[in-house]
Amino acid sequence: MRRSFAPSQTGTKRPNESFSSPLIEPIKRPRRCNETEKKPPAPKLSSSQHEEMITKILSRPFKVPIPDYVPDTHGNRCLGVKRSVIRRALHDPFACNALVFFSPPELSEHDKIHVDKNKIQVHVVVDPVLGNILRPHQREGVKFMYDCVTGAKGDFWGCIMADEMGLGKTLQCITLIWTLLRQSPDCKPTINKAIIVCPSSLVKNWYNEFGKWLGSRVNAFAVDNGSKEETIRNLEQFMANQGMRSAVPVLIISYETFRIYSGILNASEVGMVLCDEGHRLKNSENLTYQSLMGLQTKRRVLLSGTPIQNDLTEYFSLIHFVNPGMLGSAAEFRRQYENPILRGQNADSTDEERKKATERLTELTNIVNQCMIRRTSSLLNKYLPVKFEMVICVRLSEVQIQLYRNFIKSDSIRKNVLNRDEVKASLTALSSITSLKKLCNHPDLVNEKIKEGAEGFENAEKFLPAGYSTRDLLPELSGKLMLLDCMLANIKMSSDDKVVLVSNYTQTLDLFEKLCRKRGYGYVRLDGTMSIKKRGKVVEEFNRTGSEQFIFMLSSKAGGCGLNLIGANRLVMFDPDWNPANDEQAMARVWRDGQKKPCFIYRLLATGTIEEKIFQRQTHKKALSTTVVDNNEDAERHFTQDDLRDLFKLDEKTISDTHGIFKCKRCVNNIQTKLPPEESDCTSDLSQWFHASTPKGLPDNILTESWAVTKNISFVFHHRSNTTVDQAPAVSCEEDKENKKEKKYASDDEDYDPPEQDDDDDDEDFVLRKKR
Ligand SMILES: [Zn+2]
Repeated sequence: MRRSFAPSQTGTKRPNESFSSPLIEPIKRPRRCNETEKKPPAPKLSSSQHEEMITKILSRPFKVPIPDYVPDTHGNRCLGVKRSVIRRALHDPFACNALVFFSPPELSEHDKIHVDKNKIQVHVVVDPVLGNILRPHQREGVKFMYDCVTGAKGDFWGCIMADEMGLGKTLQCITLIWTLLRQSPDCKPTINKAIIVCPSSLVKNWYNEFGKWLGSRVNAFAVDNGSKEETIRNLEQFMANQGMRSAVPVLIISYETFRIYSGILNASEVGMVLCDEGHRLKNSENLTYQSLMGLQTKRRVLLSGTPIQNDLTEYFSLIHFVNPGMLGSAAEFRRQYENPILRGQNADSTDEERKKATERLTELTNIVNQCMIRRTSSLLNKYLPVKFEMVICVRLSEVQIQLYRNFIKSDSIRKNVLNRDEVKASLTALSSITSLKKLCNHPDLVNEKIKEGAEGFENAEKFLPAGYSTRDLLPELSGKLMLLDCMLANIKMSSDDKVVLVSNYTQTLDLFEKLCRKRGYGYVRLDGTMSIKKRGKVVEEFNRTGSEQFIFMLSSKAGGCGLNLIGANRLVMFDPDWNPANDEQAMARVWRDGQKKPCFIYRLLATGTIEEKIFQRQTHKKALSTTVVDNNEDAERHFTQDDLRDLFKLDEKTISDTHGIFKCKRCVNNIQTKLPPEESDCTSDLSQWFHASTPKGLPDNILTESWAVTKNISFVFHHRSNTTVDQAPAVSCEEDKENKKEKKYASDDEDYDPPEQDDDDDDEDFVLRKKR
């Protein structure tokens, strides 16, 4: 009966499986791969002969066929079965493309004899299901996080994954969790369960991502919308499971729900917590922060594409969350780092102060770099088509100028902006800022206020053209809308490109709709009120090649969670948001994995107005972020605090207030005479972009033509994404395997399949802060 001498065919018990007779279940037995012979026809036995044979087999004493034999089955082991005596890695560390996180020390022949076989350490190797789809930077990212949360990098256990959007943070984290749940050098799981805390809009998304990458390998539980009793029961069950192998080892929960049930979740130990959109934890005083700090876990991972918004205290809170005490107490941090660094960044700081700031910054960066990883989306340059970014300063229309001038000169505005009562002033300022921003978009947006004679719009009706009505849209009443109208027409008539339009205000989206109807363009509109499911459908239809939709309208406040608008390759940011993160979120919808065409990003700013000031403030915030997070010492100091307060001015003479502030040395009489540095690209500071006061040399025909027709562009900054591609020599699988053995499995290599992009997004609303 025995067909081969392979251990699986010898009919005795294999060390890792419960006994089964070779005759009772012949089909279920695994076959050795080199066994190619056909199964012989079943011999005919009389029932008595059969019984006799079975009895004979069953009475045979148990013995392992080959000493130390371990069956070659990777992956799932049976529950409740004692593991083999010989420990081994869950996945083959020598396999082609294997991503190895831990390699045990080499044992000498002598050691091998004497070592306790129950204490041998094993390789930790990422499940090939994930390892094979990770891109090089993702492999590096997961390895970094693994080293942090296993304490391999020092006396700390937390980390911040601060990769920019589009680099696949979600996939990296899933890989980390899956590895920790299954493996450790000691041949058992590192953690028994993990909690993922995220904005409520992303709970479902995380759940789906687990399914997408791991299928049924792991059970995740998303706390969605059950009754209170049900939720409590489920959470208690999750927490009660203290065994090494939980049936449901991953819990996904929103920040709000976590806070409500923190009593249950903080009651016992958890292997790891991961906080998505972790910049929500920038304030260590708030309740969410406090309740998460109560978690009994030493492994904390925080994910954020925007780790620092506008002050170092927030930065402290985030580091303190993942690694309490790493930067001292809040007061110590302020004294040691924050104060000296900020002092040095003021435009009017002394050399002494700048020197000190640099020192402290280096010191801070060194500490923080141990536990934070941040890569910029310039890595995507390797995979994505070129992207052109253009910041376009557009003149206001005559009507807008008159309304604007009238507004800032009005008694009520002057009185209120000069109001000494800070709280009251900031409230008035906020609504005045909104009015001015809306006016920059189109006079229609402030028509109501004009009619009411609201603050700043007293006696303004006379500036409107005769017979003015908002019923019929007149694009030419707004400089920016006039340009947009012209650009859209050019795009429509000279390409099959699609366009995403983004604005802060739903009112502006209304305006876009009117424009589309007027011109007969197909469009879809998405704002905060649309359900996630509906969003999916709308997006799918828009991206479909050949669909009727030419334009996708998006509110920058809606953030565009999980939106992938690669059907479009042009995007217009019609107005700047205070929060650079919102703008970047929106822009990342188009230039992302899967995009095949060159991309054009247009950011419109009304020349000399509040929009330029907002944009400058964004740049300032970004500069701070660049300095701390990317340790880019060349981030220039552009603005003093006073400049930032200087919002209520209209510079009618300038061609670009932003360019004026640079005191640009590359331009003479506003004509660029010296090209930007060769290594610069669109992630560089704006002062290192191309500066254009005429259409000459623009990278985009649409803009060139529209400039010529409308004649209302005053200045353009433009640059392109970096196109340098690292041409790493392709390594064949065999060579690769050899190299890897020698290099102790260096974790970067070139073989991978393109993964899909992740959907990490930010839907946080920005609130204008009262200035300090
Ligand atoms: Zn210049």
